[in-house]
Amino acid sequence: MRLKPIAPPSPSEPPRRGEEPGDCASCRTGDDDYLWTNDRWRVKTPPKPSGLPVVVILETRAHLDLGDLSTMHAAELGVLTVRLERAIRSLDSVARVHVNRWGDGSAHLQLWFLARPKGHLQLRGPFMTMWDDILPATEESQWRSDLEYIRAWLDDTT
Ligand SMILES: [Zn+2]
Repeated sequence: MRLKPIAPPSPSEPPRRGEEPGDCASCRTGDDDYLWTNDRWRVKTPPKPSGLPVVVILETRAHLDLGDLSTMHAAELGVLTVRLERAIRSLDSVARVHVNRWGDGSAHLQLWFLARPKGHLQLRGPFMTMWDDILPATEESQWRSDLEYIRAWLDDTT
C-alpha cells in the first residue's frame, strides 16, 4: 500500500453542481419527491435503502447555501437539526446520528443526517459514509417504515 501523492493546489476552484439556480437539481425537484416539506425547508432521502438504517438530507426550499441564511433561517436550521436528530435516534435500530455538511458538491445547502446502526461500533467516526456504500442495504419495508416515522415526527409540532 502506498500513499497517494498530494496534488499541487489548483489555481482555481471548480464550480459546484447547481451554481446557477436554473441548473440546480434541488430547485428543479418538486415537493412530491421529498419526504417532508414546509414553507422554507424540505427533507429528502436517497431513492433506495443503503447500508445505514437511515440517511436523510435537509435542504432550504430557496436556493441558498449555509452562509446565505438569514437569522430566521439559521434559527430554524438549529431547531430542525435537533428535531431530525431526535427522530432518527429514537428508532430502535439507531445508536447515533451524524450531521454533516460538505460544501464542495452542491451549491444548494444540504445537511446530511446519517444513522449509525445500534451495536455496530466499528462504524463509529468519520468513515461511516463509506460503510453506507459497503454494508448490505437495509430491508426496504423497514426503511420505508422508519422514514414514515421520521415524517410523522416532523409533522408533530407539539
Ligand atoms: Zn437550488
